[in-house]
Amino acid sequence: MGATDRGSPDYKPLVAVVGAGFGGLSVVRGLRKAPVRTMLIDRNNYHLFLPLLYQVGTALLDPSEVAQPVRGVMRSVKNAGFRLAEVRGVDLDNKRLDTDHGLVEYDYLVVSAGSVTNFFGNKNIEEGSIGLKDLTDALTLRNEVLQRFETAKWTTDSEVRRQLLKFVVVGGGSTGIECAGALAELIRHVLKKDFKEMDISDAEITLLEASDSLLAPYVPKLRAAAKKKLEKKHVRVMLNTAVEKIGENELQLSDGTIMPASLVVWTAGVRGAEIGSALTGELQRSARVAVEPTLQLPGHPEVFVIGDLAYLEQKGAPLPMLAPVATQQGKRVAKNITALMKEGRPAPFKYLDKGFMSTIGRNAAVVQAGPLRMKGFFGWLTWLFVHLVLIISFRSQLSILTNWAWNYVINDRPARLIIKSQGQTQPANRLDAP
Ligand SMILES: Cc1cc2nc3c(=O)[nH]c(=O)nc-3n(C[C@H](O)[C@H](O)[C@H](O)COP(=O)(O)OP(=O)(O)OC[C@H]3O[C@@H](n4cnc5c(N)ncnc54)[C@H](O)[C@@H]3O)c2cc1C
Repeated sequence: MGATDRGSPDYKPLVAVVGAGFGGLSVVRGLRKAPVRTMLIDRNNYHLFLPLLYQVGTALLDPSEVAQPVRGVMRSVKNAGFRLAEVRGVDLDNKRLDTDHGLVEYDYLVVSAGSVTNFFGNKNIEEGSIGLKDLTDALTLRNEVLQRFETAKWTTDSEVRRQLLKFVVVGGGSTGIECAGALAELIRHVLKKDFKEMDISDAEITLLEASDSLLAPYVPKLRAAAKKKLEKKHVRVMLNTAVEKIGENELQLSDGTIMPASLVVWTAGVRGAEIGSALTGELQRSARVAVEPTLQLPGHPEVFVIGDLAYLEQKGAPLPMLAPVATQQGKRVAKNITALMKEGRPAPFKYLDKGFMSTIGRNAAVVQAGPLRMKGFFGWLTWLFVHLVLIISFRSQLSILTNWAWNYVINDRPARLIIKSQGQTQPANRLDAP
């Protein structure tokens, strides 16, 4: 009889946490001194620092610099264990998780499974584009961009070459502008030197946004600054332009216009992770799960949903899908579970909004925090500082800092490697050698 035997006086409740992202890690850390056993479950054995994912896709950082093994992160948390598994379902009545490695019985459950790329149910767009949501996406983007330049080098037909090098980023939110800006710099500053005889102006990056402005949550002045900066970096920005269909080497816009495109990156939105539908029959906007102000699942006080997957309104609007929301909610849930164990009352979650920021390539960013507005180089310095603080728990903090500094000084992209997994095919636009 011991901590794992339900009948024992020494029994410690099991808190199952689905997702080793920002929210999940925050819960586990928050419960480190509580008389519980926590079991963190994720389909990947790493925690991914999503805000810098686009830098893997654009060859600045290696995967190990934005991802950290969960077991390493959890090593110092004595009451936490980790299981690598895909959670397939939840039996709320019997308090059981169904995973691809068997059942897990829990006393408390925290679901922090995040979100997935939203293709809005359009299979054609899903198959014809690359998302930017996990490491595989970022590595695919890196491979495909570099491969296109290598393929372009084989052709003497300038028309074919120009077609090959038409990159389109769809979605003018933070991920889209960060990706487009970094892609422009990779091409204009680095690949230009790698492909010396190639006319780099053959390469074209277009950013498409369906609404009439980039970066919707920002004030108009910062939105305009972001657009201007992107255009200065040779990114063509097209507003009020929605994609209808993606074909081989072209896009069809909603007004029927056909636009040439060799590679399409889809950053036009995210939706709650699939597991959400196992928790409720009624998903909210963006497939998120409605929770009580205490982050509990209605009707199941022992179940909490946090982060991107949770739908909770504050000040008349749903909380944004941002890392600080997930982290702060994780802390609140740890306190609420501790309160429930002492037969106390869980407290409502209150989001402390510290603002947001987006970088537009090297040395430019927009920052909006309370009354503070910043853009340009000072915005970028602020962005750099904040992100270094954010990744403080990453063992690779120093190497990221070194890479950034190195890149800043010599303007290089050290991770320009095409690494194909077995069976991976060549990109669609394969050319025969002349
Ligand atoms: C490219 C990109 C850039 C971003 N930049 C910023 C930024 O600059 N600032 C900011 O604040 N936010 C940013 N975000 C948003 C931020 O990353 C998310 O809001 C945050 O990660 C949400 O935390 P979470 O814990 O809910 O989910 P996540 O951190 O996504 O973690 C979810 C975890 O659950 C696991 N999982 C999901 N389903 C299952 C399952 N069925 N079984 C097992 N495991 C599962 C996943 O593998 C993942 O590890 C960005 C997002 C993206 C995609």
